[in-house]
Amino acid sequence: MVQTLLAGLWLLLAVSTADAFDAIIDADGGKIHLYIEDDAYRLSMSELTVWVERSVNAVTLYYGGFPLEEAYVAVSGRSGKGVLHGIAMGEVGAVVNVKIGLSTDSADLMHDWVLVHELIHLTFPKMHRRHHWIEEGLSVYVESIARAQAGDISAESVWDNFVRGMPHGLPQPGDRGLDYTPSWGRTYWGGALFFLLADIKILQRSGGEKSLRDGLRALVASGYSILQRSEPRHLFAIADRALGHPVLTEFYDEMGKQSVDIDLAKLWRDLGIVYAQGKTSFLDQARLADIRRVITQASN
Ligand SMILES: [Zn+2]
Repeated sequence: MVQTLLAGLWLLLAVSTADAFDAIIDADGGKIHLYIEDDAYRLSMSELTVWVERSVNAVTLYYGGFPLEEAYVAVSGRSGKGVLHGIAMGEVGAVVNVKIGLSTDSADLMHDWVLVHELIHLTFPKMHRRHHWIEEGLSVYVESIARAQAGDISAESVWDNFVRGMPHGLPQPGDRGLDYTPSWGRTYWGGALFFLLADIKILQRSGGEKSLRDGLRALVASGYSILQRSEPRHLFAIADRALGHPVLTEFYDEMGKQSVDIDLAKLWRDLGIVYAQGKTSFLDQARLADIRRVITQASN
């Protein structure tokens, strides 16, 4: 209760006025308190609410229920267009603050990834700064997959984004592994590549029966969220138990402490992803084409 009150105060500060529009979004398993700063947006409050509901829905589908009993989303306006900034916090309640441009239109919100990224941060414990790549990599990876599984973006756009982004996550000369190389590329895209490779391996080892999603659902079912602090080995062991193979622990042992070369061209070839003339298409006879299809397939 104290946490709830504090989170409420924190949000009122975030939206800077007590006149904020507020609503409660009932997601499967959770309640999201939405506050929108009363400002001169081009979009109506109901259009902004639909965007938050759509983002909540993608996360709810991926996790098989909203992963927290209670969360808070505060939206505030700035000059500009599109979703400008987001941050997730777990110190006093599970809180996401998002800043959007006052000229934002509905097409901007249809393409927004920021809110889903921040909502996914709410599902995962805070870690030592050394492991920040795990928090960011998870949000980058799952954000795309959850939106595709919810039907909000196409499989082509997911892989197009990965083909363009993942090269930033490759180790550069002098790299000492993900735990000891806190560059922007290794933190966001190195982390995302870790989870993509783990997801593929989990699907391979389980004959397509299980995916990273099942491991993450197990963490949520064990009561973990941004409200706790934890460490990778402990969390990966819980997820691995649910998956039946220690895939995450093995990948962490391999990639956390040392630089590992990854042949991305071969990975895209194996998955049957062809990127040519600015366009992504698929080859269904590729070795891992079935896995590629399963990764973005609708949730169940
Ligand atoms: Zn983030």
